[in-house]
Amino acid sequence: MTVALLPPITSAPAAAVAGMEPLAEGPRFVRTRGMSRWHRPRSGVRFTDRERTVYGCWCGYGVGGSEKAGAFLAADEPPAGELVCGTCEGRAAGAGQDDSPTGRALVFSPRSIAPPKNCPASRRGLYAELPGGRVGLCLACGDHQPLRAMGGPYNSRYAIVQHPPGAGLVAPCPFHRWQQLVAVDGRVRCECGREVGR
Ligand SMILES: [Zn+2]
Ligand SMILES: [Zn+2]
Ligand SMILES: [Zn+2]
Repeated sequence: MTVALLPPITSAPAAAVAGMEPLAEGPRFVRTRGMSRWHRPRSGVRFTDRERTVYGCWCGYGVGGSEKAGAFLAADEPPAGELVCGTCEGRAAGAGQDDSPTGRALVFSPRSIAPPKNCPASRRGLYAELPGGRVGLCLACGDHQPLRAMGGPYNSRYAIVQHPPGAGLVAPCPFHRWQQLVAVDGRVRCECGREVGR
């Protein structure tokens, strides 16, 4: 039995995720042999160049290594009497990953998952100029928005105005969400190289 994982969001620079693939599903419980308790994966990545899987747990611990070498243990249900991390158990249930262990309605909202209030192209150069030069096509969300000179007298540049994300907002990078979008050949992609299509 597997559970759905959240995207492996990180504030690490784009280059740090080279060779990683996000995992959509993972085991309910994991621990290394040295750990005194079972933890629950919130997200996971596979290193494509090495045979290694790493899970980021709800409490902040990382559990992983080579599956073949048995670097960590995975279970649907921890063996009777073994300890389970309370932070992981509560947060996993509160976020809707699994049933509540208490029967009460738990709630936990991972903050970094929320969609952006402003389009990530706001006040940036992520636009294609439309005829006339006063309106741009937002490369991140597809809306038409005014262009303005920004940045002050010494480093002025043209940018698209701050605006709410349009209906065509690109899908987020699993690692960087919409934080590191760059324009390449009239399209946006994440700075880590991932395509972020609509
Ligand atoms: Zn934990
Ligand atoms: Zn936009
Ligand atoms: Zn990225």
